[in-house]
Amino acid sequence: MIPFDYERATDVDGAVATVTADPDARFLAGGTNLVDHMKLGVTQPGRLVDVSALPLGDVDELPDGGLRIGATVRNSDLAAHELVRSRYPMLSRALLSGASGQLRNFATTAGNLLQRTRCVYFQDVTTPCNKRAPGTGCSALGGYARYSAILGASEHCVAVHPSDMAVAMTALDAVVVVRSVDGDRRIPLAEFYRLPGDSPDRDTELTHGELVTAVELPPPLAASRSAYRKVRDRASFAFALVSVAADLTIENDRISSARIALGGVAHRPWRAERAEEMLNGSVPTEQTFAAAADAELSAVSPLPGNEFKVTLTRRVLSATLRSLAEEAR
Ligand SMILES: Cc1cc2nc3c(=O)[nH]c(=O)nc-3n(C[C@H](O)[C@H](O)[C@H](O)COP(=O)(O)OP(=O)(O)OC[C@H]3O[C@@H](n4cnc5c(N)ncnc54)[C@H](O)[C@@H]3O)c2cc1C
Ligand code: SF4
Repeated sequence: MIPFDYERATDVDGAVATVTADPDARFLAGGTNLVDHMKLGVTQPGRLVDVSALPLGDVDELPDGGLRIGATVRNSDLAAHELVRSRYPMLSRALLSGASGQLRNFATTAGNLLQRTRCVYFQDVTTPCNKRAPGTGCSALGGYARYSAILGASEHCVAVHPSDMAVAMTALDAVVVVRSVDGDRRIPLAEFYRLPGDSPDRDTELTHGELVTAVELPPPLAASRSAYRKVRDRASFAFALVSVAADLTIENDRISSARIALGGVAHRPWRAERAEEMLNGSVPTEQTFAAAADAELSAVSPLPGNEFKVTLTRRVLSATLRSLAEEAR
């Protein structure tokens, strides 16, 4: 590993000021993603500012019944939190489907949101990759594409976002709270991540030095049912091929609210707006669910090697909605 400076931050504004002033500095939380990348040579920060001791480790109930999750709350603590399990079971399930117990004990809320793609070429510094080294090309195009995107990709990058937690939080309309030297700003998670376009090296709308301080969840919808389903190559310790986070409310035999996000299919957690539009106000039948899945997938462009994801997504989405509707009866 290349030598670097390390310091443990003791106050939020100090951490923000230090990283903002040094283009070579990075925030360090659990280190389960960043340190791996340093070992692989994917990134070589000159200075790490450890934020894990900052006072951002609480989960607080908001006056409206929502939840404020501090940036340094560990994934295992968040999954086990009583208010998360009772009010946002989908989020708890998404967290528990990610990584291993040991990793979840270290991984943090902000670190999980900001982990980078698992595209094998991104992690292999001997190969061209526009995300790691802009302008060098994309090795996944014409290469190994089993895990690549089927929605929203560009000719410059076909990588997918790896986080399970972020998919559930996208369906739950989470808002990311960010501190910079200019103060706080709030970014809906649906607008936080970028599609690759012609600059896939930028994953999010954050600028250098901005610190995620919290994620806020609005109050859960009364009488809604939710689920997180993840399909992966083996039963544990694997990233999603496809995942579905869905939250459905059925009143008087009609769907009054559908909130859906897909994982493993795009450069960001994919809010399934077309499916939601079709479902809202509809009678929850097998045909409705299949039509909603088809509507969402009408704009897919799979690659040789990941066409199976189209059928898989359609089936997992329909099956998830069907089981939620059955639960609601
Ligand atoms: C073998 C393995 C399997 C895994 N499987 C899964 C899986 O199935 N599903 C899944 O979702 N994840 C999985 N993960 C990823 C794991 O969840 C992430 O590594 C972890 O969530 C990252 O959190 P961290 O706190 O360790 O982040 P770090 O590694 O410390 O940081 C990650 C990034 O976030 C930035 N950062 C951290 N905190 C802040 C902040 N407050 N503000 C601004 N920037 C910040 C850092 O600068 C860095 O760029 C797996 C990881 C491994 C190693
Ligand atoms: S898909 Fe994106 S991350 Fe993977 S090689 Fe291409 S540019 Fe790099």
